[in-house]
Amino acid sequence: MRDKAILGFALLGLILATSLVLPLQEAKGYSLLGWRWSYSKAKSLYYWVDSYLWTYFDGLAFWYAARSWERLVNGEVPQFFEVSYGEDITIFSYDGGNNGELAGCWSAYFWNGYYYEIYHSNIRVNKYYIETGYYYCFQQKQRVSAHEFGHTLGLADLAAPPDIYWLMYKYEVYGQTGVYTPQSDDINGLRAIYGNG
Ligand SMILES: [Zn+2]
Repeated sequence: MRDKAILGFALLGLILATSLVLPLQEAKGYSLLGWRWSYSKAKSLYYWVDSYLWTYFDGLAFWYAARSWERLVNGEVPQFFEVSYGEDITIFSYDGGNNGELAGCWSAYFWNGYYYEIYHSNIRVNKYYIETGYYYCFQQKQRVSAHEFGHTLGLADLAAPPDIYWLMYKYEVYGQTGVYTPQSDDINGLRAIYGNG
């Protein structure tokens, strides 16, 4: 069986902040999407970044984001490698207009008899917010990149206000959270997914 899902959009916080109405609740910790790479595949995840993003968003943001996740499970998973073809993770720009979405991630997966196994993942970044005067410093770009890599790895968004300390918190208002790399809750989630092989 093959299946596809659209998931985990990292939304532009500035726009959402004015309309965000959430009841206060306890921090629920990491949340899983329900699909993952195989352990062996997670040792060598190949990603490709389109030339637009390399130039106007910054390919190094993805490079640093990949490094920030690496080898957090058993000292060997995950590992990312940038390639120019044959990638597992396609990272591309698109014209989304003022739709409130800075970046998003979705994955294609199949049931392998034990769990839903990802065979390809996509990350897209909306040109609109790059070209219309929004300014992102490098660390903010790194955060967006690392957050999307978190979705690729199988972590879901966190949206409750107590979760601002974690990378997988979905809203961000220009560095408000000060979080640019995986934190303890994000790492716990990663280990919950891949820690047993
Ligand atoms: Zn997200």
